[in-house]
Amino acid sequence: MERIIDFRSDTVTQPTNHMRSAMASAVVGDDVYGEDPTVNELEVLAARVSGKESSIFVPSGTQSNLLALLVHCERGDEYIVGQQGHTYKYEGGGAAVLGSIQPQPLDYEHDGTLKLENVAAAIKPDDPHFARTKLLCLENTQAGQPLPIDYLASARRFCNDKGLSLHLDGARLFNASVALSADVKTITQYFDTVSICLSKGLGAPVGSVLCGPEDLIIKARRWRKMLGGGMRQAGILAAAGIYAIENHIDRLQEDHARASIISDRLLALNHSNLTVSSAQTNMVFLSFKDVDVSDVAIRLKDKNILITPGKSVRLVTHMDLNDDDIDVFIAELTAAIS
Ligand SMILES: *Cc1c(COP(=O)(O)O)cnc(C)c1O
Repeated sequence: MERIIDFRSDTVTQPTNHMRSAMASAVVGDDVYGEDPTVNELEVLAARVSGKESSIFVPSGTQSNLLALLVHCERGDEYIVGQQGHTYKYEGGGAAVLGSIQPQPLDYEHDGTLKLENVAAAIKPDDPHFARTKLLCLENTQAGQPLPIDYLASARRFCNDKGLSLHLDGARLFNASVALSADVKTITQYFDTVSICLSKGLGAPVGSVLCGPEDLIIKARRWRKMLGGGMRQAGILAAAGIYAIENHIDRLQEDHARASIISDRLLALNHSNLTVSSAQTNMVFLSFKDVDVSDVAIRLKDKNILITPGKSVRLVTHMDLNDDDIDVFIAELTAAIS
């Protein structure tokens, strides 16, 4: 097979041979009966790593976030979230469709935080005219940016003060912890519930975990069944997740280093048609002037390099990219825009 250099997302990785062997040899059972030892092991591991009482393995990050919203909010409740928040913008409106939960989106600040003054102003008074504001949802990393730890601490104090719960969409939580050289619990301690994707930078083929207090995870288990997320011999998939947590966290540093190299080298071109962001964990954002980004994408595709064309092009590094790929990409992009 020809080598494809794929910058579209960190979800595109292939399971490694070691990961596939772990999957092949997983001891399995029926997880809907709670009898899959490998799923149970993953759930214990995820709870321990995130510093929460319990966790639940689910097919996707979308389902994990939806379960969180459903356990924090009832019909007619509201949650506050970023305009570009994944749970609000990229999950099909699931909270509204399936939970009758009203989203209140707010603009993100440049650092991926939600200004707490703005959150305070969006909280609805206790009055029958309004939905009941129950939950604040943050995302970490947000567009690749790890949220500052002191911000998380103030968000926690704020939520305690206002009687809100606090959920983290931590699809790329480990990218944040590695970038900050902080233990994951330094981040997760401020949140009631945390969703973590195993199938992004960690390189598992499928799966996310929702971590939180036992009573909420028990509630989430009922919703998971209702949503069709009760899987049977799911230990085959959980084994990949365990392998990923045990082996693929520290190496995220390599993805971050490659993103920095891309950003540094493209900035050094000083090309008038190209605007380049500095690298944020495993992401770099490009925008083009006087060249059609769709044409650039087509020319790159011809060279087996994949990007998603758009007003802003997000390049994502991951474990299926190496140093040579970065060299090839820089050379081909330079040729495509000159
Ligand atoms: C990918 C992603 C999700 C959802 O994960 P899926 O497994 O694709 O459903 C949630 N939040 C963020 C920030 C993501 O990047």
